[in-house]
Amino acid sequence: MYEMVIGLEVHCELNTETKIFCGCKTTFGAEPNTQVCPVCMGMPGTLPVLNKKVVDYAIKAGLATNSEIRTISKQDRKNYFYPDLPKAYQISQFDEPLCENGYLEIETAQGSKKIGITRIHIEEDAGKLIHDKDKGTLIDSNRCGVPLIEIVSEPDIRSSEEAVAYFKKLRAIILYIGISDCKMNEGSMRCDVNLSIRKKGEEKFGTRTEMKNLNSFTFIQKAIEYEYKRQVDIVTSGGEIIQETRRYDQATGKTYSMRSKEDSNDYRYFPDPDLKPIVTNITDLDRLRKEIPALPDQRKKIYIANYGLTAYDAELLTNEKVVADYFEKAVPFADNKKLLANLIITEVLKMVDDEQIMITPKTLAEISNLAHNDKINSSVAKKLVKDLWGTSLDVNDYVIQNDLLQINDTRLLQELVTEILLSDPKSVDAYKSGKTIVIKSFIGKIMGRTGGKANPVIVNELLENALNG
Ligand code: ADP
Ligand code: MG
Ligand code: ZN
Repeated sequence: MYEMVIGLEVHCELNTETKIFCGCKTTFGAEPNTQVCPVCMGMPGTLPVLNKKVVDYAIKAGLATNSEIRTISKQDRKNYFYPDLPKAYQISQFDEPLCENGYLEIETAQGSKKIGITRIHIEEDAGKLIHDKDKGTLIDSNRCGVPLIEIVSEPDIRSSEEAVAYFKKLRAIILYIGISDCKMNEGSMRCDVNLSIRKKGEEKFGTRTEMKNLNSFTFIQKAIEYEYKRQVDIVTSGGEIIQETRRYDQATGKTYSMRSKEDSNDYRYFPDPDLKPIVTNITDLDRLRKEIPALPDQRKKIYIANYGLTAYDAELLTNEKVVADYFEKAVPFADNKKLLANLIITEVLKMVDDEQIMITPKTLAEISNLAHNDKINSSVAKKLVKDLWGTSLDVNDYVIQNDLLQINDTRLLQELVTEILLSDPKSVDAYKSGKTIVIKSFIGKIMGRTGGKANPVIVNELLENALNG
């Protein structure tokens, strides 16, 4: 009877060499306070100089998410005090963000759905507080001034599945354009979830709560499910939701109130007087557009149209650019593109380690060709992926040397079938009295006897004939 309404704010650290307003390095994990200078430490009298790369990267994110790019955009000071923010204001963008009115598409059980993107703006990250039980709270300013983009979605999301699908798609796009490493465990991509509930069919939105800094797909999903239930319980028992910021606790799986939510006028935003407006012209846009590779959705459409893949499989192949690139390199060698895709999805994706695919596209295509042409069966194909991983062996030689060719000899297989059935009359009776599932155990036995090389289609047919004849 209730439905959830969700909007996500995603923060993404850009992988520029240097910070947004100074020349300090942005390397993750450096010794605390070694990548700092008077500018990013917020010393009085220093002046910020905008890193042009940050603007380029943010515009790319906008172009890749169908957004409009502002010709003139400005930067504003967002004032608040916190120990990790030495200037006591964050340089961000208020009412003239670089990018606006975009969208991206996700796959849902009901087909594809567009999720609106309200805005993408640039801002600086704050430092990091380390709470040490002996020394007290320590401040590491290395992260002060690391460039961020914030991507704000419209409240178009209606379930935790959609939220995760949106977040994954956004992450895939950002990785494709290469502007961030999106490492969630290092905090370079993190997500705030805004959630409210309303009666189904109602137009008006309810009061939202905001859950801060979720950094894994599972936490996003769990936090949403918990928070939805919490809000429904309050409303159905006559209570009222208060607009507030909540914290999701991984250990308990619950959300806890942190503070009542501040309104934007609490921040006293005003244009930063030290920074000129950002002007974007057609030449910049053309240059940046050329640097954007074919994106997941574009490739997905091609895979579905040209190779007959399902939307779901095409999505799996395009989630990561290395995998999509790999598939495209293997495709020209493959007799059956669907079989090739399956082999990647079921085997290669399991084996990839740190984006490394240790089998050449041509070799994988050859394995799928052997299977397609009935030279090997599917379990041998899977075994080959594992055996040849990290080697430079020739598939065809390997198959011969290790005696892996499929047994298609009907006479031989028929003999085995007869033998196996005779040896197990109990199971034969079970089959005949309707427990047809026992056919699986017969197949298993024949596979065992043939070292997994029997042609399963022929075996199945022979067994059915023998059992039903
Ligand atoms: P703030 O910085 O105050 O959180 P933003 O405009 O940056 O505000 O982000 C608001 C986010 O909350 C957006 O993602 C928006 O889609 C979402 N949102 C706004 N109203 C609601 C609502 N009633 N229910 C759920 N989400 C909402
Ligand atoms: Mg917010
Ligand atoms: Zn600096």
